Amino acid sequence: MLFSRLLIPTLKENPAEAEAVSHRLLLRAGMIRKLASGIYNYLPLGLRVLRKVEGIVREEMNRAGAQEVLLPAVQPAELWEESGRWHVYGKELLRLKDRHSREFCFGPTHEEVITDLVRREVHSYRQLPLNLYQIQVKFRDEIRPRFGLIRGREFIMKDAYSFDVDEAGAEATYETMYQTYHRIFSRCGLEFKIVEADTGPIGGSFSHEFMVLADTGEDLLASCTACAYGANLEKAEALPSRPNPMPAPVGSAPEEVHTPEVRTIDEVAAFLKVSPQDIVKTLIYETDRGPVAVLIRGDHEVNEVKVKNLLRVTDISLAGPSRVEELTGAEVGFSGPVGLKLPIYADHAVAALGAFVSGANRKDFHLVNVNPQRDFTITQVADLRTVTSQDPCPRCGAKLTILRGIEVGHIFKLGLKYSEALKATFLDADGQEVFMFMGCYGIGVSRIVAAAIEQGHDEEGIIWPMALAPFQVGVVPISISDEATWEAALSLYEDLKNAGVEVLLDDRDERPGVKFKDFDLIGLPLRVVIGPKTLAQGKAEVRHRRSRQIALVDLDKLLDYLKDNIYSELHG
Ligand code: ATP
Ligand code: MG
Repeated sequence: MLFSRLLIPTLKENPAEAEAVSHRLLLRAGMIRKLASGIYNYLPLGLRVLRKVEGIVREEMNRAGAQEVLLPAVQPAELWEESGRWHVYGKELLRLKDRHSREFCFGPTHEEVITDLVRREVHSYRQLPLNLYQIQVKFRDEIRPRFGLIRGREFIMKDAYSFDVDEAGAEATYETMYQTYHRIFSRCGLEFKIVEADTGPIGGSFSHEFMVLADTGEDLLASCTACAYGANLEKAEALPSRPNPMPAPVGSAPEEVHTPEVRTIDEVAAFLKVSPQDIVKTLIYETDRGPVAVLIRGDHEVNEVKVKNLLRVTDISLAGPSRVEELTGAEVGFSGPVGLKLPIYADHAVAALGAFVSGANRKDFHLVNVNPQRDFTITQVADLRTVTSQDPCPRCGAKLTILRGIEVGHIFKLGLKYSEALKATFLDADGQEVFMFMGCYGIGVSRIVAAAIEQGHDEEGIIWPMALAPFQVGVVPISISDEATWEAALSLYEDLKNAGVEVLLDDRDERPGVKFKDFDLIGLPLRVVIGPKTLAQGKAEVRHRRSRQIALVDLDKLLDYLKDNIYSELHG
């Protein structure tokens, strides 16, 4: 391709609206433009990268035996009524009406549509297993669309859905997808980590997320420094603490102390001269099954996902100030478990305490010397807190680290959830009608474009991995008016094209400095500069974008040099 013929509207200045580096560089490199919040146009260079990602995903899904389909973006409400999600999906679901006032939505995901298709077309165990995928536009009306392609409202996803005759079959398919995802992200040239993900109240470890490691990631992960354990922080297990070395409670009852305007853990610790570990926080939550109290040690943080899963509810939220007063008899900041008429769920670390400080359910008072066995009844002790880098690995006991990541893929064992709701059955070998076992597997195709930049960039611009680069090689003649230079550049360009290399020739009548800046910005892995000085020596200069190393290569060896470098980065 010729640079002058392509729409590459690069920008010199940093666009003010872009916080994330990938967003900034995609705009500056002329790869995307915003149409509305979370909705983007892909320009030629950006689209080439997107197509590269799609190509890798498609090849690997096909290799795994999955079959490509294309499902509609607009879906009838009735299917969502059948699955029960029309009323629970909430505001992320973009709902629309047609001219006959029939309700539809713009698909945020396709479980309903695919299950409907398969229940109509598949009736016998002989037609199974089946794994169907598509690469398609999704719409989710995210509360906070941000970071450009990382969290868009309209975005491109690869979603696959598998149907198996039994649980063992579904697990085998899951394992195949796990390996396939590993291949996909490796081929994309990304540094990633696979972590256990929350599966909701069903539990089990049949969900994994594929995380591109980047400091700008929105997800936190716990990762073991010694073994392979990794988990989303929402899910990472905290081992029950060893019994606390604190002395047993003194006397026969807790003691009330006056703590005027002392509310937060730090204020209580300072006022009573104890450490946060000796204080217990009492948090009052509203749930769809009524209010509950959750007890967490003062130096720990509650993990709401764990609380939700334990209580088997879909929604929880902290009770507001007036509700706290109504339920505990005191203002926020003075809640405690003693005398509280609510179900009490305590974290392991709280149950292990000998005696602790808590609110007294009376304004401006706390209790000291509270004992969990003696002074109140715990409904259930469980793992309810978020792990920290101070916690040991739940598998091997070594140190954990907390990392940031961008979720680019998610695989999930669905079981019978949708096949039961939509009655997707088949006749097994004995002629019995049974439900299909399902799995679903998503990849954020457009998010990968941004994640690759979060991981690969410097002050000058993007550094694409070879597999995702919009072009593999850029050819830059120092001047297009010097005939010999231009001829040499053109002939290299033709040779590269004939060899199947993706090459961008800079045919613009610009100063070299301008051209170099643009090439650094758009991030092609290899740049060849053709100029009269090196031509006179029978050579050309090749610059490697990532290492910034420059090699002077003989003209007659140039084609092989470039091809070898491309090959070794793609397959090395
Ligand atoms: P997140 O927690 O980031 O909102 P999710 O759990 O809602 O993701 P899934 O429903 O599992 O995501 O979707 C599959 C994949 O689609 C995700 O792993 C992610 O890579 C991508 N994805 C999800 N939401 C968006 C979005 N708003 N913009 C771009 N990609 C997205
Ligand atoms: Mg989401």
